[in-house]
Amino acid sequence: MRCYSCSKLSLFILCEVCVKQLFPTEISTRTIGTLDVISFYKYTTLEFLLHTKHKPEGYRIYKALAKMTMKPFIEEFVEADDRLVYIVGVDEYVKSGYAHVALLTRAMKTKYSKPLHSALMAQNRVNYSGKDLQFRLANPRNFRYTGKQNIDVILVDDIITTGITLQEAQKVLMENGVNVLFALTLADVEEGGSIL
Ligand SMILES: [Zn+2]
Repeated sequence: MRCYSCSKLSLFILCEVCVKQLFPTEISTRTIGTLDVISFYKYTTLEFLLHTKHKPEGYRIYKALAKMTMKPFIEEFVEADDRLVYIVGVDEYVKSGYAHVALLTRAMKTKYSKPLHSALMAQNRVNYSGKDLQFRLANPRNFRYTGKQNIDVILVDDIITTGITLQEAQKVLMENGVNVLFALTLADVEEGGSIL
């Protein structure tokens, strides 16, 4: 096959050279209310790859990105912190044959971290893209949580824009007795997050 990024022949959807170039070096954090959100990239760096979401090639792209980011992150995390932590993806709904957020959380399964797939589902999926904060606040996702209670959770999503969705997800989890440690996203749309 050809590398999706540079079109050179490659065994993988992203070739070794592109993976090296894309490898996240500047992890940034943003705090939304009481929630710390850690992101691996600025949105502009990954935009062309994230646009494959819901397309056939997106399945392999998201898997490759998860392997480069979520997987090493959680492996390091569980090494430093040996309690059992659960991984909850924001709205792992299937569209065009796969749930892109589930590809991220699936990569985070270790001996001490367990993904709870499809445990936090939106009941309202009105399109947010290009909409302002007021619109997003007026049209909440109305998440329903069906996972375990009294657990420690890392929340996972593909991007953070206003942070409203993650904040709403955090609130629903807290109402269900879940301790949200922090959130993890591939890319941050806002410029100027502080460097960790
Ligand atoms: Zn390449």
